[in-house]
Amino acid sequence: MTFDSLGLRAELLRALGDAGYTIPTPVQAQAIPVILQGHDILAGAQTGTGKTAGFTLPLLQRLAAAPARPNNSASRRPVRALILTPTRELAAQVEESVRTYGKYLPLTATVVFGGVNINPQIGALRRGVDILVATPGRLLDHVQQRTVDLSRVEILVLDEADRMLDMGFIRDIKRILALLPPGTNRQNLLFSATFSNEIKALADSLLNKPVLVEVARRNAESELVTQSVYHATKESKRDLLVHLLVEEKVGQALVFTRTKHGADRLAKQLHQDGIVAVPIHGNRSQSQRTRALADFKAGAARILVATDIAARGLDIEQLPHVFNYELPNVPEDYVHRIGRTGRAGSTGEAISLVSPDEQSYLADIEKLIKKRIARREVTNFTPKPHAAPLPFEERERERFVYNTRPGGSGGGNGRSNSSPNGNGRFTRPYNQAPSTPRPPSVPRPARPGNVTASSDANRGRRPAPSFSREPREPREPSNA
Ligand code: AMP
Repeated sequence: MTFDSLGLRAELLRALGDAGYTIPTPVQAQAIPVILQGHDILAGAQTGTGKTAGFTLPLLQRLAAAPARPNNSASRRPVRALILTPTRELAAQVEESVRTYGKYLPLTATVVFGGVNINPQIGALRRGVDILVATPGRLLDHVQQRTVDLSRVEILVLDEADRMLDMGFIRDIKRILALLPPGTNRQNLLFSATFSNEIKALADSLLNKPVLVEVARRNAESELVTQSVYHATKESKRDLLVHLLVEEKVGQALVFTRTKHGADRLAKQLHQDGIVAVPIHGNRSQSQRTRALADFKAGAARILVATDIAARGLDIEQLPHVFNYELPNVPEDYVHRIGRTGRAGSTGEAISLVSPDEQSYLADIEKLIKKRIARREVTNFTPKPHAAPLPFEERERERFVYNTRPGGSGGGNGRSNSSPNGNGRFTRPYNQAPSTPRPPSVPRPARPGNVTASSDANRGRRPAPSFSREPREPREPSNA
């Protein structure tokens, strides 16, 4: 099957061609025709299945096919499609997909999430957008400030709905639903990796005769991911990780810790071992998170050390390795973690380092996935005193330039003190703030086509509004 046969219009096929996609994934093949026909859907699909394009493509087509419904009052473009996501990173990625697939269509899109200046978002909303991607907390901040009007939304997407509920967003979602036009005038698309009773209740209240689209078994871990376990003491994990990075010839990897402090500590330790590692977790500012992800995606950092919440929704192409430096205490999180690799048909490897105190977590995970994970052992491995440089350290130092400016990132004029290395990449110590933070809401360079960035960092004319609420993110443990 090809995308042509799904009834997508030429502008979308052209954008898909630019992205190099010709064959729809199973969720796309099932969902696209149903959404094009105007049905509500309840889709069971995890990240990595291509679900984003599965709802973005038909959503763009439906908006492009019909003009906005008439409205007496406002002259600006009304928000016609609202996509809610649990995390900022996922929101940014979904908006990026909207731009990628909609670049030949005369539709506008923007994204709003917390942790960044609200003013550019207000400016973008005031100029009017067709498609709004949002996290619930920041969207409600806009509602409260009357900077967004949701009364003309034609299509609602709840992406990773189970995650939104896990993260305690149900009340926010209900408040948002109450601001939308009545259900019969709206198409509703609900995507969730799992179907708890809570999700079923939400689906019952939201969806109108939904078509069920299910492509992944509940809690199924991808069959494309090879899983293995190494037993290790807590103390030897750091060296074992470094050893495996060398022995397994790992280029880049996502490494999970259970806590935010653990992520910081491990990133620092890896740095001491000559490996460029950046942490991403809820204690880091949004610009630090955005920068860490950008550095990792650009290859300027070899390791992204993440906690579960920060990693939700991360879409990193070509990520062959995921390490569980610590096992999650919630077994479902293991499935989500290893789902970061083996995406869209490529293979991946998930390696877990398990200490004696984590045996019960391992047992819970194996019970959930209904299989025993292969145990592996390393040969020629003895934990080393950390003063001794590791054999590959020099190679790493050649690849990455370290910035040792005293005083870190605070103050100054914010100009970059990073240096281009031999590969023309810019690097900085992981704990240094980015010199030129560029959150996704900052305008991007002009792109071909017409789906334009409506956010504009400099043109918000209103004085900064006072915040009534901080953007909410779920708590994750701080201490190891
Ligand atoms: P998602 O599940 O939406 O996060 O998508 C996972 C990854 O698959 C993303 O990097 C997409 O760009 C990629 N992708 C989406 N659709 C296709 C397709 N039809 N063929 C190959 N890759 C795809």
